[in-house]
Amino acid sequence: MSKNPYDWIDKSLQTIHRANWYRSLTEAKSLPRGMIEINNRCLINFASNNYLGLAGDQRLIDAAVSATKIHGTGSTGSRLLSGHSTLHSQLEAALAKLKGTEDALVFSSGYLTNLGVITALIGQRDLIIGDEYNHSSLKQGARVSQATVLEYTHNCVEEIKELLSQYRHKYRRCLIITDTIFSMDGDLCQVPKLIQLAENYDSMLLVDEAHATGVMGKTGAGCVEYFDCTGKEIIQVGTLSKALGSLGGYVAGSKKLIDFLRNRASSWIYTTALSPADTAAALKAVEIIQTDNSRQTSLWQNINYLKTELEALLQPQLLPSFSPIICINYQKPQQALDVAAYLKNHGIFAPAIRPPTVATSRIRLSVMATHQQEDLQTLIKVLKAQPLS
Ligand SMILES: *Cc1c(COP(=O)(O)O)cnc(C)c1O
Repeated sequence: MSKNPYDWIDKSLQTIHRANWYRSLTEAKSLPRGMIEINNRCLINFASNNYLGLAGDQRLIDAAVSATKIHGTGSTGSRLLSGHSTLHSQLEAALAKLKGTEDALVFSSGYLTNLGVITALIGQRDLIIGDEYNHSSLKQGARVSQATVLEYTHNCVEEIKELLSQYRHKYRRCLIITDTIFSMDGDLCQVPKLIQLAENYDSMLLVDEAHATGVMGKTGAGCVEYFDCTGKEIIQVGTLSKALGSLGGYVAGSKKLIDFLRNRASSWIYTTALSPADTAAALKAVEIIQTDNSRQTSLWQNINYLKTELEALLQPQLLPSFSPIICINYQKPQQALDVAAYLKNHGIFAPAIRPPTVATSRIRLSVMATHQQEDLQTLIKVLKAQPLS
């Protein structure tokens, strides 16, 4: 009797179901004013990374359409061959200016940026020290690099110092990696202390500003700007797909770093250049956040309002947050799923985030500049009336 070599997939899926870890897709359509359409219903959207509402902005749409008309839909080649265009040069110059660095390089996604940058800089003889709550792309990059990887307790600077003093001398190079705004928690890493430690222990520092770009800092440059660390020689990565409303990733840093990465980052070299539409939209977004901070101001008004209200309502369950990402903690995955279903019944889209994505189950709310005051009030009212919890 021949055995089907794919049978194990069914068993694996059953295990995922039993653990309440099963995930599936929902078709959704983003609407203006922080709303989303799901199954023909209009819900208030607390699940979007479109913090500034730029993904639906007419200026970005026009930039993407016009770039498509001029340059076509595809960039048709890798950057080092035929795919490099003036749009890429302009976007990279704009990102470097925003970040206060000498140069920048755009990748096809934030995920590919982290894979490419980490594996180019670090190898078998090296050490990576990273926060246990780091984004999957940082962890995956660390794994693929074949370096020795040590994880520290979330945000524990003391532990990083211990690891550095104990292990740094045994390795050739060392790279410390961290999210700046932690994507599933909403708290911040301590950029200045990390920079100090990296300097003291002859280590490189890579900070992932995916959720912070456009959100933190006076000009929206991110947490490095927020903590007044602009100009330090570190490696700043991020995405064009969150507050910037487009698609793609970037790394910003010194000229020599970027020059090296153009020669060594395989997820940049051996892939097709970013499309004209994505590049032009991101370029427009960077221009907008640098010339007009009204969206950032509205975003922070909404964050502060919602945080104050939530703290009054369910303080012990709130995870520490200094960003648009605000999480309500639950003991069991099923509780978080029940609350998410209850919210959805009441016109609010705020999904449950569960293991294995995070250690503890939660409702993750992300605030947008385009949320209306009455919609934030609706969320509070609905949470207040909630029978479970
Ligand atoms: C979203 C995210 C990424 C991945 O960016 P994409 O452009 O969506 O691939 C990387 N790092 C962090 C911290 C993120 O939140």
